Amino acid sequence: MLSNKQKDVDATLNKLDKKFSDRREKHLGYPYNLDFDPTPISQFHKFLINNLGDPYVGSHYATEVCDLEREVVDWTMRVWECADPEEYWGTVGASGTEGNLWAIYLARETLNNPILIHSSEAHYSLPKAAKILRIEALRCGADHSGSISPDALSEVVHANRHRAIILALTCGTTMKGAHDDIASCIRILDQVGIDPNRRFVHVDGALNAMVLPFVDGLQSGIRPSFRHGVDSMSTSGHKMIGTPMPCGILVVRRDHVRRVSSAVSYLRSDDTTLMGSRNGHAVLAIWNRLMRLGIAGFRNNARACIERAEGFAAALRSVGVPVLLNPWSLTVVFPKPSERLVNEYQLACNGDSAHAIVMPNVKADLIERFVDDYTAEWRCNSQKRVFS
Ligand SMILES: *Cc1c(COP(=O)(O)O)cnc(C)c1O
Repeated sequence: MLSNKQKDVDATLNKLDKKFSDRREKHLGYPYNLDFDPTPISQFHKFLINNLGDPYVGSHYATEVCDLEREVVDWTMRVWECADPEEYWGTVGASGTEGNLWAIYLARETLNNPILIHSSEAHYSLPKAAKILRIEALRCGADHSGSISPDALSEVVHANRHRAIILALTCGTTMKGAHDDIASCIRILDQVGIDPNRRFVHVDGALNAMVLPFVDGLQSGIRPSFRHGVDSMSTSGHKMIGTPMPCGILVVRRDHVRRVSSAVSYLRSDDTTLMGSRNGHAVLAIWNRLMRLGIAGFRNNARACIERAEGFAAALRSVGVPVLLNPWSLTVVFPKPSERLVNEYQLACNGDSAHAIVMPNVKADLIERFVDDYTAEWRCNSQKRVFS
């Protein structure tokens, strides 16, 4: 017999399950790939999987998957074109935010009293990291498309040419899905005379660092690649990869990690990560996705999503809606609709604009339904505008 208390708990859980199932079907606003099958990894829910300590060292705790974590990192290093994987280090962490924070920390420990430069379109976790780490942060302008403005960057770098510089670039900005031109930005650092030992370049690729490597004909400057001479790059696991929990991957040049590493005998490991205990279920979830989809799966997803995003934008434009869709981007930006539609489709908004992100689970029927609802409202409003 279940006690009343247990019945209440079950009822609450069942209600949640129903709510989540309903809401998942109409989700458009956040870059989450909800198209994953949790079955292969659900058998592990009975274990406490903890990748304690450094991913390359492991710990005394045996229920861990550090070997799979290293496979995840190796796979990602290949996708991000690390010339010699031995010279890089990587980890699976709690989120894209943790990756950003840890990268900026490693940068601060590498450089002498650096400043952080990021664009006005950078994710809020970057100024937050600067605040936590007590680094002076400078915001530099972006152009209309949302990428960092080379002129504005040049000016800020020049004005700070006697300082060490951490430059945080974005591959797929949060609101506009824009790509900073990594190659041009590094060229600006070179031109001003900020040489590699006085700079640290981090690429925040939360969404599109798992999209752009898989498309054809990409403009080479925006490719999320270590070949440009970047120091670190991060992505989120629950965005393009598709995991049932928030998580992320960070890859950094190994030299930068060596500097902060200290041995902890209690763990039988090195202390090289922000978190001591680390979520092994997230590692399993990412590993399962990468191995199952493979490069071919990611290529298919990237191509299909970009195509659907282009169709989405074209459908809105055909009735006169002004739309921004950056090349190779999945983020469709348009004027903010009514609160009703914002809530119904869980749209992310910024001022007068809103965006929808075409992830693998956002299929033609959902896009069609949204476009119908949106354009009905749009026509109605433009009539009001004409007749009032
Ligand atoms: C989502 C996002 C982040 C944060 O990632 P989380 O995994 O949600 O912490 C950072 N940067 C950009 C550009 C993002 O879109």
